[in-house]
Amino acid sequence: MRLIEKFKDARGLICCGCRRRFTRIDALYSYKSVCLCGDCFNKFDKVSGNMRIYNPDYNLIVYSPFIYRGLLRDLFIAFKFKGMSAYGHIIGMAVGEAFSKHPPAGRYDFITYVPLSKQRYNERGYNQSEIISRYLCRALNVPCKELLIRTVAAVRQSSMRNIERMRNVRNAFAVCDDVKDKRIILLDDIHTSGSTIHECQKTLLDAGAKDVCLITAAFVKKSRDNREEEYKEIVCEED
Ligand SMILES: [Zn+2]
Repeated sequence: MRLIEKFKDARGLICCGCRRRFTRIDALYSYKSVCLCGDCFNKFDKVSGNMRIYNPDYNLIVYSPFIYRGLLRDLFIAFKFKGMSAYGHIIGMAVGEAFSKHPPAGRYDFITYVPLSKQRYNERGYNQSEIISRYLCRALNVPCKELLIRTVAAVRQSSMRNIERMRNVRNAFAVCDDVKDKRIILLDDIHTSGSTIHECQKTLLDAGAKDVCLITAAFVKKSRDNREEEYKEIVCEED
């Protein structure tokens, strides 16, 4: 270990949830000078059982280990909109571990992720789904591959309603590699309306993929009665 890293370790890593200091051994997950402690991980809302969630709007089954709220939501906002890429690695580790314990059934050739437009990628400097997918690849021992590109520049979906989101992503993606007869896991960071991941899945299947299993790191839970309120809560957090 390099001297500077030893020095940093001696001062401790800061937990991104409670801001307490931990050693690398005591932290649950750590990346560079950031960590997540066990107490804070326990605050994540977890999806029980085999992590399957049904989205009736698009007739989709999506695997998700976590519900998008509380601390995890705060970490995602910092990861996506405040340049805290280290938080994405922490989230990725948690997602990877969840799926190493409960892998989706079946064998897969590749794991891929929802692409960003060039413009969004340049603004952010990274694709949040791609970072998370690296940990999923390691956990499931399936290679990562870039299979999709975004052909139409993204318009921020934050203030859109479901029907508008659907129109916004229609025909917005294309394959950039051969997917014929391949069994693919497709990862999106946050499952909101389902419009984006549904369109990506359709693009892969239209190009000849045999099967496309959908995985998301966090699922936005909507209740029938306070749909509107939940909707406001996720403003600015898609894309
Ligand atoms: Zn903590």
